[in-house]
Amino acid sequence: AAKSSGRNRSTLFGPEIAQAMVSRVETRRSFPLALERGEILFWLQPQVDVRGGRVEGVEMLVRWKREEGMVPPGTFIPEVEREPALIRKLGCHALSEACRLRRELSAPLPTLRISLNIGAGHFLHPAFLDDVDAALRGETGTGLVVEVTEGASLESPERTGRIREELRRRGLELSLDDFGTGFSSLHHVADLLPDEIKLDGSFMRSFRMRTNAFAVVGSTLLLTDLSGSRLVGEGIEHRSDVELWLRMGGSLVQGYFFAKPMSLDDFKDFYARPLPEIALPPVYPVEEL
Ligand code: C2E
Ligand code: MG
Ligand code: MG
Ligand code: MG
Repeated sequence: AAKSSGRNRSTLFGPEIAQAMVSRVETRRSFPLALERGEILFWLQPQVDVRGGRVEGVEMLVRWKREEGMVPPGTFIPEVEREPALIRKLGCHALSEACRLRRELSAPLPTLRISLNIGAGHFLHPAFLDDVDAALRGETGTGLVVEVTEGASLESPERTGRIREELRRRGLELSLDDFGTGFSSLHHVADLLPDEIKLDGSFMRSFRMRTNAFAVVGSTLLLTDLSGSRLVGEGIEHRSDVELWLRMGGSLVQGYFFAKPMSLDDFKDFYARPLPEIALPPVYPVEEL
């Protein structure tokens, strides 16, 4: 038995897994320090209303400033999310940075929406609303949008509904992020009625391959229109993506076609420049969906 468990151990902890554990320990150890040192910062990706021809908002996307450069979240967020205390620290940092950004941009861009991502573990944490209040310091939450993945909202739909009401009371909006990647149905969305739904970028990739995208987008757009919320298309990379999105009846987009995530200074420059010209095609009649 000892022998076989020994063999199991060596397959369980092969080189790749050992490396993953090191990086996990490394993240847990150095992430709080990085926060204290101001190495965890946010880049901004514009959200564009194509029909209105203007930038309506920005999403704050976390970056870890290290010697090797700006590290995107894919490598460390999964680790941070495994530690409730860490994901909460990051969320609190994002909340206070969002308030700071809103103050900084309030004079030039008073109606700009500022979106931030909150991990499921923080969103469903008993102290989440206290953390929101601590960041707001008595001010209204107007203009701030909390993005949470559909996973979090499905894990606890009732609690999500209550938090959604409490956020609304404070003036903040709720956005359902990465919609379409999980298991949430339009039924669930109709119950929750978020202020915004972000259709995951993977949908855009499948649109390019002409699957039944029109039906998905058409029904989601109908639902958001009827309930007075917004549908944002993520992962819009090409002019043809924008045109497709418009033909399906969409208008709000976020994606590399308009801009990648950038620093605040670059965003100010971006905002001052005109957007690329987009011809508005007619919306498909419903019978073509
Ligand atoms: P997300 O919230 O869905 O953010 C959108 C991601 O798609 C961003 O990646 C963005 O750079 C990328 N993206 C935007 N447009 C395009 C495009 O046209 N094509 C492609 N291929 N990608 C595009 P990023 O910054 O690497 O963030 C990845 C994920 O990490 C985010 O997905 C979010 O789930 C998480 N994340 C980012 N910032 C935070 C944060 O502050 N807190 C938490 N808890 N999670 C965060
Ligand atoms: Mg997001
Ligand atoms: Mg998303
Ligand atoms: Mg995503």
